[in-house]
Amino acid sequence: MSTIFSKIIDKEIPADIVYESDTILAFRDINPQAPTHILIIPKIEIPKVSDIKGKDHSELLGELFDVANKLAAENGIDKDGYRLIFNCGDHGGQEVYHLHMHLLGGRQMKWPPG
Ligand code: AMP
Repeated sequence: MSTIFSKIIDKEIPADIVYESDTILAFRDINPQAPTHILIIPKIEIPKVSDIKGKDHSELLGELFDVANKLAAENGIDKDGYRLIFNCGDHGGQEVYHLHMHLLGGRQMKWPPG
């Protein structure tokens, strides 16, 4: 089922896009939880982490991490460190059912998360 992220991919609604390739889109979170908060998503619709198939999606996942590391460097948070998060399902706190990696940085993160 399509989500608001499909509309962002299709440019039907605006977003602050910071990276785009044939397979991946990255844009700033509308409700940032840190000075840098970027969402990195595959363009294909994978609803959640539990739908990932290593056999089919390993290359795509590698690209997601490459983009995260590149954007961390571009945003100046690579030296101090950052956090990458995938929320999965209700208890994971997932709101949008289109796979996305959160890139958070620019402040000290806490553990455990809420
Ligand atoms: P999650 O809870 O992991 O599903 O995260 C969904 C994220 O999408 C939240 O951090 C929202 O703030 C963010 N979000 C929802 N709608 C938009 C939008 N139109 N543009 C940018 N970020 C959005």
